Amino acid sequence: MFNVIRIPALKDNYIWLLRKGAAAAVVDPGDAAPVLDVLAREGLTLSAILITHHHQDHQGGVGGLLEHTPSVEVFGPERESITGVTAPLRGGERIRLASLGLDARVIAVPGHTLGHLAYSVGQRLFCGDTLFGGGCGRLFEGTPAAMAESLAKLAAFPDDTLIHCAHEYTEANLRFALAVEPGNRALRRRADEVAVTRAKAMPTVPSTLALEKATNPFLRCEEPEVVAAARAHGAGADDPVAVFAAIRAWKDSF
Ligand code: ZN
Ligand code: FE
Repeated sequence: MFNVIRIPALKDNYIWLLRKGAAAAVVDPGDAAPVLDVLAREGLTLSAILITHHHQDHQGGVGGLLEHTPSVEVFGPERESITGVTAPLRGGERIRLASLGLDARVIAVPGHTLGHLAYSVGQRLFCGDTLFGGGCGRLFEGTPAAMAESLAKLAAFPDDTLIHCAHEYTEANLRFALAVEPGNRALRRRADEVAVTRAKAMPTVPSTLALEKATNPFLRCEEPEVVAAARAHGAGADDPVAVFAAIRAWKDSF
């Protein structure tokens, strides 16, 4: 087993630190300073960095971390430009985090960016800007069809999978979700709970895949209420990709 430490960074990012004994790995260090603080405080040695995609808020701290710990292995998407990658990946690989004694599965999830990767470690999924609490990433580079397929890959994990996304966006995402699906009672309950959590400045992630499947409209593109809402916002057909494309575009201007 291993533990996970949530490191708040930048405006609303989370850097996830995996620790086992004195060994640590981090996912998407957008900033080095808060990671170095945790490593020092907990007496940990960084041995691996996992990058989901090339945006600065996910890789901006790699250079600073490598200055302190030059022998760190850096995993990241082969088709994107990322500082210091030593192990380029395309998805489908199984990688070994040797000093933590852990294996991770690498999943290609294009959509937000073309090379975007997710990492599955035990029961936990580190999915960057692909699946968020109550939402999903914007389509900066990929097509709606690609993103819908990527989300379907993540949705196929077991229901108790913990969803470690890279941003605290849940509250705003759920406001949009309620506009899509005002009749979803599980969604109302989650939105109420999240409002209380955020009022106390507490984190809303990780969530579980079961909760996302019950409340995240981007995983619910076959639900009649979601289909109807998409139809009312430009979807030309009822198929899941058309529905996904319409609600993703609607969210962009919500
Ligand atoms: Zn991003
Ligand atoms: Fe981001």
